[in-house]
Amino acid sequence: MRFYRATAFLFPRSYERRVLFFCFGAVHVPLLACIALQALTGHWEIGTLVTLLVATLVGTGLGLAAIHALLAPIGEATAMLAAIQNGERIVAVPEGGNDLVGRLLNGVTTAANDTAARIEQLVDAAERDPLTGIRNRRGFLDSAEQVLRGRSNAVLGIIDIDHFKAINDEFGHAAGDVILKSLARKIEDHLRRSDIAARWGGEEFAVLLPHTTVEEARLVMERLRATIALDTELGIEDHAVTFSCGLAPVRTFAQLGEATKQADAALYSAKNAGRNQVHILGF
Ligand code: GH3
Ligand code: MG
Ligand code: MG
Repeated sequence: MRFYRATAFLFPRSYERRVLFFCFGAVHVPLLACIALQALTGHWEIGTLVTLLVATLVGTGLGLAAIHALLAPIGEATAMLAAIQNGERIVAVPEGGNDLVGRLLNGVTTAANDTAARIEQLVDAAERDPLTGIRNRRGFLDSAEQVLRGRSNAVLGIIDIDHFKAINDEFGHAAGDVILKSLARKIEDHLRRSDIAARWGGEEFAVLLPHTTVEEARLVMERLRATIALDTELGIEDHAVTFSCGLAPVRTFAQLGEATKQADAALYSAKNAGRNQVHILGF
């Protein structure tokens, strides 16, 4: 490390050039020694010097090319680390032999993939609701940002369980939790793979239906509403579990905040109209 640091002033931003510089110097030692000897003795042998010069130039070219190629795996290892810092997964893993560079490559690959897997786990945990296992609000917004890239024809729905406090009060918080989990699964099962569902918070869920008109969304959510209201497994004893839902069209991610307000207002209207219904404001 000391020599590495001491020579850092030579090409401080290029380790490869520093190595090539020393090789270049080392390859010229025999030629310089020969010139020095002949200068000291005063006995010049031009033929020997020319041969040595040509051999030195050819040796230099071959040596530099070989060292440049041998340093390539270190460049690859550095690029892999940079990729992982950008949150990318290493797909094509360069294979090294059972030597120093091979061990470096294997070490970097293992560390990089372990880090990537850990980051994925952390992101997933940060974006999932621990109770229901579906996305939380943050996961919803992240996925919505992908779906609403550019202009899109999507519908946002906010679902709120009716009289959930009464269910909790009567049957206990644990029973309420079971209902939340089952409802989350049923919402996801009911939707298309391209739709997004999330626990918005408390006993509220959000859905985003891409490439859907408000009328189509109303049909989808009406079907879900009726299925849930008639689902005897979801309810407790004689109590059916129902929800109210507000829908609003959304075209871009920037519009999502405004659409959330509209969907909330539509939900409020559904609650006021007696609950267990799907409303869209202005439709
Ligand atoms: P409304 O029909 O007007 O929506 O009435 P509501 O009783 O559902 O509405 P309110 O907002 O008054 O109550 C929501 C309840 O949801 C209150 C809270 O105890 C319950 N809740 C929120 N998060 C959880 C949870 O994680 N587990 C359980 N079991 N209950 C929860
Ligand atoms: Mg609520
Ligand atoms: Mg409620």
